[in-house]
Amino acid sequence: MRSSTETRDMKNIAEIYGENVFSLKTMRDYLSEKAYKSLRATIIEGRSLDPDIADEVADAMKTWALAKGATHFTHWFQPLTGTTAEKHDSFIMPDGEGGVVMKFSGEELIKGEPDASSFPSGGLRATFEARGYTAWDPTSPAFIKHGKNFSTLCIPTAFYSYNGEALDKKTPLLRSVNALSKQVLRVSKLFGIPTEGKRAVATLGAEQEYFLIDRKYFEKRIDLIQTGRTLFGTKPAKHQQMEDHYFGAIKDRVLNFMEELDHELWKLGIPAKTRHNEVCPAQFEIAPVFEEQNLAIDHNMLCMDALVRIAERHGFVCLLHEKPFAGVNGSGKHNNWSVCGPDGKNWLSPGDNPKENAKFLTMICALMRAIDTYSGMLRATTATAGNDHRLGANEAPPAIISMFLGEELTEIIEQLEKGTGGKTSKGNAFLEVGVSSLPKLPRDVTDRNRTSPFAFTGNKFEFRMVGSNQSCSGSNVVLNTIVAEVLDEICTKLEADVKKGRDFKKSLQDILKGIVRDHKRIIFNGDNYSEEWHKEAKRRGLLNLRNTPAALKEVTKKEIVEIFEKHGVLSRTELVSRHEIYKEQYEKTIKIEAACALTMAKTMIIPVAVAYQKELADTVASLQNCKSKAKAPKEMLKEVSAHTDRMNDLAKKLQKAIEAAESSEMLDVMSDLRISADVLEGLLPENRWPLPTYARMLSMI
Ligand code: ADP
Ligand code: MG
Repeated sequence: MRSSTETRDMKNIAEIYGENVFSLKTMRDYLSEKAYKSLRATIIEGRSLDPDIADEVADAMKTWALAKGATHFTHWFQPLTGTTAEKHDSFIMPDGEGGVVMKFSGEELIKGEPDASSFPSGGLRATFEARGYTAWDPTSPAFIKHGKNFSTLCIPTAFYSYNGEALDKKTPLLRSVNALSKQVLRVSKLFGIPTEGKRAVATLGAEQEYFLIDRKYFEKRIDLIQTGRTLFGTKPAKHQQMEDHYFGAIKDRVLNFMEELDHELWKLGIPAKTRHNEVCPAQFEIAPVFEEQNLAIDHNMLCMDALVRIAERHGFVCLLHEKPFAGVNGSGKHNNWSVCGPDGKNWLSPGDNPKENAKFLTMICALMRAIDTYSGMLRATTATAGNDHRLGANEAPPAIISMFLGEELTEIIEQLEKGTGGKTSKGNAFLEVGVSSLPKLPRDVTDRNRTSPFAFTGNKFEFRMVGSNQSCSGSNVVLNTIVAEVLDEICTKLEADVKKGRDFKKSLQDILKGIVRDHKRIIFNGDNYSEEWHKEAKRRGLLNLRNTPAALKEVTKKEIVEIFEKHGVLSRTELVSRHEIYKEQYEKTIKIEAACALTMAKTMIIPVAVAYQKELADTVASLQNCKSKAKAPKEMLKEVSAHTDRMNDLAKKLQKAIEAAESSEMLDVMSDLRISADVLEGLLPENRWPLPTYARMLSMI
């Protein structure tokens, strides 16, 4: 039997869950029956919003928010900076008699007009029309953000220009979900699944990795403050070799932080589920229960925000950078993607009858073709200066995109290609789509391929290239769009065949067979970290886009523009502007890092090394005076001098590269500069070294 305190705590969680969200449950208490039903239809069924209810909803939201201590409201949006944005307006309205009333109208709820001239637009907004607009997204619930004494009502919104072009990450996401839904409904019709008044949704579970370090060390690291990663620093003797951190017992100080984090997320209706220590010391992970994609992405943005804020309350700093520490594991975000059809079922879950399985195999094949054909664009969505340090290192997938299906599913796919009539290695008849039953696919959690960038994990695909600091939006926009495109192709063929009177199952079998034949090169079940895979992938003709500049070129390719325009997800202008913005962000990031590295070299490391040289030189001189034969001081002086001089030369070279705005040269010189600095770190007395060491930052917990 549970103790009474335990029972009380359990009840509390159920009570506090979602308390800071204007959820459907809350709406029922605050809205009239008519308004509630109408808004519910918009949220659940994707019906367009009835503008007549806006005033009532706004008033209800205000009443609810005031009771929660709100003084302000804000449209909360996700500009192309990759973070979130908010501009607060108070509810006050002078009443003309020297007092105020609290007001919030339907108009204010539905549309905002922030002065948006300082957000990146990649040329989308000419200066004469710098206005940006925000539009309420009723499918993601409004929530409360608490300050010390008061709070703010936050309304998730899309952000677009005067001409209706997307200036944010939510607009294309919503468009891509619609495009995908449209095609899934077409497939459904062909499979005889009812679609009337229904839609399909993409689902997402975003596993988030992060580091926690003690604030006192962070404050002494200009590189962490300015760039989010350490630009200097050597690996300590013990880091992750013992493999003792992963799933290790969570230390009290971290657990206290995690508890507060979970509670805050639960109050926001974010279903935080899993928490654990990750591979590297001081590295952790949080994963929620999956949700509809748009909501899951908003929730992941809020989760990152909460991680950073709550860490501060515990004397930590949360590092979300993809590679805060060189030489040890970095952090990613595992993007678990699937589709829930109009039948309410997960379409990536193998079913228990031939018809269900035909649906499942159609999805698997559609993904094979989509990923193989558009791998470059998918890769581009993970291209950032930070993620460049992670992809291809030994903890993250390489820059080559392939798909892991596992042994059993691969065998099934191979049978599909061979066609009907033959026998498998186990003596079973070859698979006939829609007729044969599939063998049971084991969902073995232990023997999964952890090295694959795009792995089938039993009932979803896990895309593992997304960086820890990124919004999941970009990758999902591309996944939804490319799958929509391939489903569109499949449906067009199927519909034509059916019209001609061909047998549906035979037609489907032929289409899937053709896809496997043309795209099986994308399947790879082996070790993605190995040298051989790089060679093999090259032989198969798979792309290996090693860095951001190479990957970003994919964004504006003709075939990409074509499908994105066709499905109404992003226009050519919107794609071109994104390309501009991401390229600029990359270049600015490198330049900031280079400038920071240069300052640290010149004002922190070189001066300390020079001062130490003097000390050593004095020692050598004194020892010579007394005719000592001591060798160490001389040798130390020689070594320290050599590396200090090298740093000094490299600093000059870096200065030139910065002036010439040569990103790749800056990266090369920074890395050389780091090598010398790291050698010096091993030569100077620890108490003189101007920066907290990796050993201290990674092992303080
Ligand atoms: P693991 O990856 O270790 O197998 P889980 O199976 O719990 O762990 O899944 C990891 C993440 O994938 C979780 O966030 C989970 O909610 C999510 N997930 C599970 N099913 C789906 C689905 N159908 N669509 C999207 N995400 C899913
Ligand atoms: Mg996982």
